[in-house]
Amino acid sequence: MARNLPPDDDPRRVGVRDWLANHPEPTARQLAEAGYVAPHWPEPWGLAAGPELQLIIDDELARAGVERPDNPIAVGWAGPTILAGGTDAQQRRWLPAILDGSDEWCQLFSEPEAGSDLAALRTRAERDGDEYVVNGQKIWSTWANRSQWGILLARTDPTARKHQGISYFVLDMATPGIEVRKIIEMTGGNHFNETFLTDVRIPVENRIGLENDGWRLARVTLGNERVSLSEGGVLWGMGPDAEACLAEITDRGAGTDPVTRQRAARASIDTTVLELLGDRIIEAVTRGDDPGAEASIRKAMADVHGQALMSLVKDLSGPDGMVGHQDAEAEETDPWHWGYLFSRALTIGGGTSEVQRNIIGERLLGLPREPAPESTGAPPAPSPSRGTE
Ligand SMILES: Cc1cc2nc3c(=O)[nH]c(=O)nc-3n(C[C@H](O)[C@H](O)[C@H](O)COP(=O)(O)OP(=O)(O)OC[C@H]3O[C@@H](n4cnc5c(N)ncnc54)[C@H](O)[C@@H]3O)c2cc1C
Repeated sequence: MARNLPPDDDPRRVGVRDWLANHPEPTARQLAEAGYVAPHWPEPWGLAAGPELQLIIDDELARAGVERPDNPIAVGWAGPTILAGGTDAQQRRWLPAILDGSDEWCQLFSEPEAGSDLAALRTRAERDGDEYVVNGQKIWSTWANRSQWGILLARTDPTARKHQGISYFVLDMATPGIEVRKIIEMTGGNHFNETFLTDVRIPVENRIGLENDGWRLARVTLGNERVSLSEGGVLWGMGPDAEACLAEITDRGAGTDPVTRQRAARASIDTTVLELLGDRIIEAVTRGDDPGAEASIRKAMADVHGQALMSLVKDLSGPDGMVGHQDAEAEETDPWHWGYLFSRALTIGGGTSEVQRNIIGERLLGLPREPAPESTGAPPAPSPSRGTE
């Protein structure tokens, strides 16, 4: 298994260390050009690296104190979709700045009436010559207030069945007609926004894939979103990681009573299980397999795990835990309080826990889909199309 990493003299390790010796303080662009930002991507963007090489690169970069550009929506979700469905020209246009972190991206998928049932989206894109004219409203758009680009789903054929009339676009966030309104979260911070689109014009060359074939590509994005959120760490890669949480739990006296000790042991075991599941997902991605259902298992486990760790730290802080900073800077100034409040979002974003369980039930366990309610005359329950259609 990939956790048994090769020794220090493994030629692949030596190769990374040689590169680091020549680039002791690499810029984001140098990392991107070396293929070290997304090593599992195909060449020329990555190194088509298998799990072991990826972990070796991660390990060597960490040892050298080198951090990759922090650009998760771009690298984790938009990039893989452009790789899967974009033309060569589109890949050359957008991937370099995704990899070197110079462009940030947001995801404009969810709408007030289309979250789990994403294919119910109503934002409309009408063709007008060489452009589409887009009208509608998106919500929960993380970082839309600071992104240069957005991946956007819009309905191009309102007469088609709901999954078949959707197209996938790349939206320049500086286009006239876009209004982004902040949503302040209970942490006091602002990650996500409402995005209003009024007569927004998108050139046809910014459509990814064929017209009305957007749902297929949306599934690529959603699958990668699950992978990237599931492997991101206890708070999707933000705030303290599992190791820091476990150290904090020990410092705050987890060993003092048997119940707390038990909770801490459970958290520690889950951390290891999640690492191993992460390795399986990387292996599946590298083989070219769809890691969808396994990523759902990991996401469903990781989100609850993140909440459990944050609650444990909070419980161990005693009366002090009642007081915490709740402002825009809380993520930096009081990561434990911020993390505790943010952890509520884990089981909602990127497909809720219930939707992950539907995916596991239908795709892995072969269980039947949700039945339509009988005798009430009511329409069938909405399909959780964020995952399973
Ligand atoms: C921190 C965070 C960041 C986000 N960032 C983005 C972003 O950048 N871009 C974006 O487009 N969206 C984003 N979202 C939105 C996210 O994808 C949606 O919140 C999520 O898909 C759920 O949709 P909803 O909020 O409309 O809830 P609903 O779909 O209305 O669900 C309400 C409840 O019903 C349950 N439910 C719904 N359908 C079923 C079913 N078939 N079976 C069982 N239970 C069901 C759900 O599990 C949930 O408990 C973000 C959300 C969060 C929390």
